[in-house]
Amino acid sequence: MPVPHLFDDIDGQLAEWCSARKLPAFRQRQIRRWLFEGRAGEFAEMSDLSQALRNELTESFTLWTSNVAKHTTADDGTEKLLLSLGGGGQIECVLLRDKVRRTLCISTQVGCGMGCVFCASGLDGVDRNLTTGEILEQVLLLQRLLDPQERLSHIVVMGMGEPLANLPALLPALEHIARDDGLGISHRRITISTVGLPKAIRKLADLDTRYRLAISLHAPNDELRNQIVPVNDKMPLAEILAAADYYFDRSGRRLTFEYVLLAGLNDRPEHAHQLVRLLAGRTALVNVIPYNPVMGLPYQTPSIESQHAFRSILEAGGLAVRFRHRKGDKINAACGQLRRSQAVVDIS
Ligand code: SAH
Repeated sequence: MPVPHLFDDIDGQLAEWCSARKLPAFRQRQIRRWLFEGRAGEFAEMSDLSQALRNELTESFTLWTSNVAKHTTADDGTEKLLLSLGGGGQIECVLLRDKVRRTLCISTQVGCGMGCVFCASGLDGVDRNLTTGEILEQVLLLQRLLDPQERLSHIVVMGMGEPLANLPALLPALEHIARDDGLGISHRRITISTVGLPKAIRKLADLDTRYRLAISLHAPNDELRNQIVPVNDKMPLAEILAAADYYFDRSGRRLTFEYVLLAGLNDRPEHAHQLVRLLAGRTALVNVIPYNPVMGLPYQTPSIESQHAFRSILEAGGLAVRFRHRKGDKINAACGQLRRSQAVVDIS
C-alpha cells in the first residue's frame, strides 16, 4: 500500500487518523499549525507531540513527495526551485522579493497545453495536472526559504500550466493558503492567471472564491490573438471579455489584463489604440510584460522607446497601466521562462 500524501487532503486524512486513535480534535490543529506556521520539515520536529505519535505519523503519511532537483538564487533576491515530482515529471516555482513584498509563483501542470507561441512552458505540450498536494508542496517548500523575519504576502498562480484547466486540484490548495489556520494570505493577495477559458472563469465566479483574476490578453483583436494564443481560435475575445465582466460583477475584484509586448508583433501604436477601445469602461488594470527572451524562440523585446510609446497611448486612453518589472530573468525565472526540465536552460 502506498503511504498517503498528507497534503492531498490534510483535514480529511488527519480527522480520520485522529478519530481512529481516539485523539482529541486539538491534535489535528496542532499538526496543522506545525505544517503552516511552524514550517516543520518532518513529523519528528513536532515537539509537542509524543514520540510515539510522531513515529506513527511518520509511518502513516508522506509529507514531501517532491525533491528539490535544483535551487537557484539571483542577485535580485529571486529564488527558483526545480522540483522532481513524486508523481513524475518536473516543474519550476519561484520566490520573488520586492521591498517588503514576498510573492510565490506556482505551477499547476507539468508543461502546458495552451501553446502560446512566446512561452517556454508550453513548448513540449502538457503531460498532466498537478495534484493538490503537489501544488501545496511548492508553496510550503518556497515558504521555508524565507528568513524568519520575512512575511509571505502574495501568491500568483502564474507558473507553468493553465490553472483553470486544473481547478479541482488548485482550489483546495489555495484554500489552505488563504485560511487563517493555513498561511492566512487573504484572497485579495492571491491571483490566478489564465489564458482565458470563459466557461471556467464563470465557474470560478459562481464559486465566490474572490481570488484576483488576471487574463492573458496579449492582443487587441481576434486575428492577431489567433496567431499568438492559438486557443483563441475556439474562444474569441468577446466571449472571454464577457466572462471576465461576469467575474468582476460577482467578485467586485478589479480585473487584470496581461499583455506580453512582442516587438513588431503586438506593440504598434494601432494595437495600443485598439486595446484602449476594447477595454474602455472596465475597472481593470493592464499589466504589460515586455517579452522575456526564451531560448530557441524568434521573438524580441521591444525597445524602451516603443514600450514608452505603447504605455502613453494606453494612459492617454484612460487605462490603468502597470509595467511588470523583470525579475529573476538572470536565472530564467521570469514570466514565461519556466520549463519542464533544465536541459535547455543551463546553457545560457
Ligand atoms: N497559463 C496562464 C498562467 C501562466 S503564464 C496564463 O496564460 O495566464 C503567466 C504569464 O506570463 C502569462 O500572462 C503569460 O502569457 C506570460 N508569459 C508567458 N511567456 C512569456 C514571456 N516569454 N515573456 C513574458 N511573459 C510571458
